[in-house]
Amino acid sequence: MKNFFIRWSVFFVCLFIIYFVVNAKVHAIAQANLQSAMVVNLPQYSKQELIDDVKARMKYILTRTKGVKFFIHKVKRKENLWEIAKQHGYSVHTVIGCNPQMKTYNVSINQNLLMPSIGGNLHPVSPTDTWQSIAEKYDVEETILKQTNCGVKDLSKEHYIFIPGKKPAVDLLNESMQEKYALRDLFRSPLAGRLSSTFGTRKHPITGKISKHGGIDIAVKTGTLVGAAADGVVILASTNVGHYGTAVFIDHQNGYITHYGHLSKILTKVGRKVKAGQIIAKSGSTGRSTGPHLHFTIKKKGVSVDPLKFLW
Ligand SMILES: [Zn+2]
Repeated sequence: MKNFFIRWSVFFVCLFIIYFVVNAKVHAIAQANLQSAMVVNLPQYSKQELIDDVKARMKYILTRTKGVKFFIHKVKRKENLWEIAKQHGYSVHTVIGCNPQMKTYNVSINQNLLMPSIGGNLHPVSPTDTWQSIAEKYDVEETILKQTNCGVKDLSKEHYIFIPGKKPAVDLLNESMQEKYALRDLFRSPLAGRLSSTFGTRKHPITGKISKHGGIDIAVKTGTLVGAAADGVVILASTNVGHYGTAVFIDHQNGYITHYGHLSKILTKVGRKVKAGQIIAKSGSTGRSTGPHLHFTIKKKGVSVDPLKFLW
């Protein structure tokens, strides 16, 4: 009986030793494979492939950067660019700056977007770039650039590096995006708030009828300060402007006029010159309104245009 017990004990001890030796060996081989795969078999991509293929771009940048993670965001129903950026804690500039395939601000269901874990942008490396020139372009420290892109051995052979914390350089965006960025320099948001209704046809919140919404609604609590969207002259400031309730209109003298509706208090006068960002009113819920919000319209030569084409 005693003999039997010893024999089985030895057997199990041997089994354990074999298990650990084999396990360690397998692990070591896997590790070696991984390392050689990382060093030798870094996937090769052309610049165009990295633009067209979001997953390829993610793999590419993941192997080169440190301190920032990258993942894919698949666009869900009813999501827009602003909302997606906000979900991840940064501005739309980061999403645009990491997605050179984007030609418009509109995103569609199931579209893949490359998202970094922190704000920043992918800089398309040109042959004349140096660490120093890139650092100067974005006003970021060279050491931070090198640390973030520590996987980069030879900068001249790279397609992209990650610039942490910075907006994309407008001159390096695709042509379509460059035009859109230029429009956005014209106006600034009258306030920072949640977009509750967008431009275009919608079911009216009060009448229930399908109608065209000539601007955007930004849900903010009553009393929120409203600033002029650009330099201009106040051409209307009244407490009785039809369904707008209390409203201010500003003429920007370049064919553009902006409307600010459902206000609670006017803080300017007709004829007054205002600078972009200058406070003109407090938001409210006057006129035909279902709750506190700012209605904001931009008209170009008398025709309402989508303010989201102009605002960040
Ligand atoms: Zn509205």
